Amino acid sequence: MSECEQLQQCPIWGSLNSHVKYVWINNYCKGPRRERCARLQLLRAGKAVAAELLPNGTLMPARDVPARQTSA
Ligand code: SF4
Repeated sequence: MSECEQLQQCPIWGSLNSHVKYVWINNYCKGPRRERCARLQLLRAGKAVAAELLPNGTLMPARDVPARQTSA
C-alpha cells in the first residue's frame, strides 16, 4: 500500500514527541485509514489545518506538544 502524499512534509509528526506516532503513521499515513485522515480531508478541501490536529480529528494531548519558546 502506498503512503500518503503528505507524509514527507506533514508537520504533525515532527512535533509529536512520542513513539505512538508510529502507530498513527502505520494506521493512517501508510495504512488503510489514510482516506479517513482529518488532516488530509481538510487539506484536500483547501481548509486550514490546526497544528495539533491528529488524523482521527482529535487534538494532540498537551503532554505530547513540544514546549513553545516565549520571547523575553
Ligand atoms: S497525518 Fe494525514 S495528511 Fe498527514 S501524512 Fe498522515 S495521512 Fe497524510
